[in-house]
Amino acid sequence: MTSRSPARIVLGENNVWALSLAEAGDGRGWLLIDAGVEVAEGDAWTLAVAQAAAHGFAPEQVRAVIVTHEHIDHAALAFQWAAAGARIVVGRAGIEAVAAGLGGLQAQRALRLAEYERHGCPPEVVERLAAWRGARGGTWEPCPADAIDAAEEHETWALADGRTLRLVAAPGHTPGNLVAWCQEDGALFSGDTLLPTTIPTPGLHFPGAVSGNPTASRWPSLPPFLRSVEAVAVLRPRTVYPGHGEVMPDPAVYLDRWRTHHARRARQVHRHLAGHGASTAFEVARALFPRLPAERLGQAMTEIIGHFDVLLEAGEAEPIERAGEPLRLALRHPGEGGPR
Ligand SMILES: [Zn+2]
Repeated sequence: MTSRSPARIVLGENNVWALSLAEAGDGRGWLLIDAGVEVAEGDAWTLAVAQAAAHGFAPEQVRAVIVTHEHIDHAALAFQWAAAGARIVVGRAGIEAVAAGLGGLQAQRALRLAEYERHGCPPEVVERLAAWRGARGGTWEPCPADAIDAAEEHETWALADGRTLRLVAAPGHTPGNLVAWCQEDGALFSGDTLLPTTIPTPGLHFPGAVSGNPTASRWPSLPPFLRSVEAVAVLRPRTVYPGHGEVMPDPAVYLDRWRTHHARRARQVHRHLAGHGASTAFEVARALFPRLPAERLGQAMTEIIGHFDVLLEAGEAEPIERAGEPLRLALRHPGEGGPR
């Protein structure tokens, strides 16, 4: 079994991984993991095409682009690869967002800010979150819907070196999140499910908003995210090729880091609720991160809301929501030990 490293196209902080496919006779011998994004350094498409040429292929030779998840930094250039004839492969729950582009992101934005408010975030902090540049997004052209295939239609790909790449649904970082996996040598293309320098956020997702429902409810993301990471751990990956940053040669280290992080956060949230009684996610976030600047509280709250979701799903807590008041979470049995 020969295996080789994938070619890498770097656009800003983002990786596009390129794999050579077993010949199918159509001249389209390349498969990409993620599509890339607009960058500050210049025209992203020109940069992507130049790097592809250095690896020995042109956009017209790309048979498919697997979009690991429906976020701007992984999907924004999908329309360009599609225009060159590639199929765009997306987890079913992410298809609408990739077809909508920036419009889908903006449709969810108001709901995301309202969700912070619902969880106790004061209006002046919500305003700071709304103004934060990272929340606004950049250029994300819609990808034509007729160029998009659901990942289920392309479960496996035969690579030129004899390996088989398998797509695995790993909902969490987004509803339609995927990872791609080569059993033969333990290579995992993780998108943002595992990252080398940060613990990826569970995010606040309102998939129904993308298709025009302004009152769409939130998709609870951390419970499936925790399960997806455990499912990835069971694969025992030997090398992880992430959506951002450098190759991760020792995945067990990052899996441990993920588990330690969320086990600790679960304990902190449980302890706060046990000690203070019913609390909002904002109150918990403020208690855990007293010095965090307002514009970074969104990230912290997103994680606390995620742990509220875990407690709710496990039946260990109940929501208390009264008219005109933010949502509070109360433990059902505050005297009991909680997570270890
Ligand atoms: Zn990303």
